Amino acid sequence: MRGIAVVTSGGDSPGMNAAVRAVVRACDAAGVPAVGVEGGFGGLVEGRLRPLDARSVSRILQRPGTMLGTGRCPAFRSSEARREGGKHLAVAEVDGLVVVGGVGSLRGADALSRETPVRVAGVPATIDNDVGGTDWSVGLDSAVNSALSAIDQIRDSASSEGRVFLVEVAGRHAGWVSLLAGLTSGASHVVVPERAIDLAALRADVRGAFDRGKGFCLVVVAEGTRPGGVYELAERLGAELDDIETRVSVLGQLQRGAAPTMRDRLLGSVLGDAAVDALVDGEDRVLLGERAGRIVRAPLSRAWTAPATLSADLEALMARLAR
Ligand code: ADP
Repeated sequence: MRGIAVVTSGGDSPGMNAAVRAVVRACDAAGVPAVGVEGGFGGLVEGRLRPLDARSVSRILQRPGTMLGTGRCPAFRSSEARREGGKHLAVAEVDGLVVVGGVGSLRGADALSRETPVRVAGVPATIDNDVGGTDWSVGLDSAVNSALSAIDQIRDSASSEGRVFLVEVAGRHAGWVSLLAGLTSGASHVVVPERAIDLAALRADVRGAFDRGKGFCLVVVAEGTRPGGVYELAERLGAELDDIETRVSVLGQLQRGAAPTMRDRLLGSVLGDAAVDALVDGEDRVLLGERAGRIVRAPLSRAWTAPATLSADLEALMARLAR
């Protein structure tokens, strides 16, 4: 190959740096020049490309976010912008592009490869974990671990008895962070955007927790909760449980800001390396993923045609253990 570029796009997620580093170092090992695109697809359209060698990705593994910067670029939905990006890649002698990002970014990659000579490989990276074709996306594990640290602190500092804490975590359209953080922090109930809010079940779970002698009750709520979000939910719950004090905590950006966990560093490293391997093998519009513990290649379109759904087994386990 003449050259492989790497771009991080969309919402940032911890572990993107591991993927960038892996792409650059795998290129180095394969004797293929590596190029970094700064600032997501916007930077591609503007031609913000620079060569990267093995040393230029030193000391980034432990950092959250991405050394290349990321962003959203509405213009990339137009083929003019994509062709402009394609021209910059041609000038930089790049014929393969690794796109590290969520479903939107992978769709952008697909469109780019259909309109330009560049072949693309996708590495799923989003804390929402909603990309099809992989069990895990880079960033989910770190986001859940950050949420857990915050929840553990809330629990430890909640000295007075008889309080219910509603903690809002990431996940506008997908409940993975909520479900996993709830399950592994011992929440009494989780609210996920995939299911309509069942206020009666929520009230019963909270009441049941106190009736069974719990001194503290935790409810984990995904940020996509409608209508009204976590504050309205707390009000509605509080109105029905007037002897129980209801508190709200919104974790927000904190979940993206922590150092990536071992799991996300490993997944980013393995998938970034596999993406270079796939391009060198001649693949195009290929998605790298981990399924049942194995690294697999799938058609890129799998990312959005077969979106990852919440695990029914883990939802059932959550309900069984919250007692
Ligand atoms: P994520 O990759 O985290 O899902 P977005 O959905 O915001 O984030 O997508 C990131 C970028 O990908 C968008 O700003 C846009 O440049 C590009 N993109 C998203 N959807 C498409 C699409 N259907 N066609 C082309 N480009 C797209």
